[in-house]
Amino acid sequence: MIRRGFFRSSDRFLIALLAAGLSLGAMTPAQADQRGPADTTIVDSTGRDGRTVALTFDDGPDPRSTPHLLDVLRSHQVKAVFCLWGEHVKEHPELVRRIVAEGHALCNHTMRHENMSTWSPSEIGANLRATNAAIHAAAPGARVPYFRAPNGAWGRTPEVAAALDMQPLGWRLSVADWNNPGTHVLVQRLRDGISAGDVVLLHDGGGDRTQTVNAVSRVIPQLQAEGWSFTLPARHG
Ligand SMILES: [Zn+2]
Repeated sequence: MIRRGFFRSSDRFLIALLAAGLSLGAMTPAQADQRGPADTTIVDSTGRDGRTVALTFDDGPDPRSTPHLLDVLRSHQVKAVFCLWGEHVKEHPELVRRIVAEGHALCNHTMRHENMSTWSPSEIGANLRATNAAIHAAAPGARVPYFRAPNGAWGRTPEVAAALDMQPLGWRLSVADWNNPGTHVLVQRLRDGISAGDVVLLHDGGGDRTQTVNAVSRVIPQLQAEGWSFTLPARHG
């Protein structure tokens, strides 16, 4: 209840700032949407009207792919969500700091991609807190507004994630990029598959993701030229 009260007063503070005509500094509308308490709904959309899409990247950070991906996103001024393994965070904390510094959002993807479908809430909580602790050791003060269960095996994770103020994050479109079917195939699957408001599941870790990064680098400017905007997933069900 304390947390809920805090966010309510925080919202009032934001409204007061806006009413006073003051700037919110570097906060983008997408980041502002991350505020407010999480709930147990597994969100799979941007929650916005029009041609919006949210890109999410799982299983990193990975030094083979994440830096290149960050370069691509930066060059097109796109913000995305990175669903991190705690173990990889410990191995590559500098990549976590870069993800945060470049304005992307973080997502807890467990310590080692455990299947939690049969775990108790206390077991889940210990793992999720350990993952966030690894993230905060790498990037002190970074927000972790989302949680994604490995392989979508949600079990009781949504209630635990919401209690830790992380919104369960699903997806509407997956293009099976982990099979490395070829960059042009991934481009086609993304072009054919993306519809308004989608959360899209992609990977920057778990193997060689060169095809994924190259496909994203082609699709982003195509969609932008067609009036699409890239935003973050909704933070409420
Ligand atoms: Zn994963």
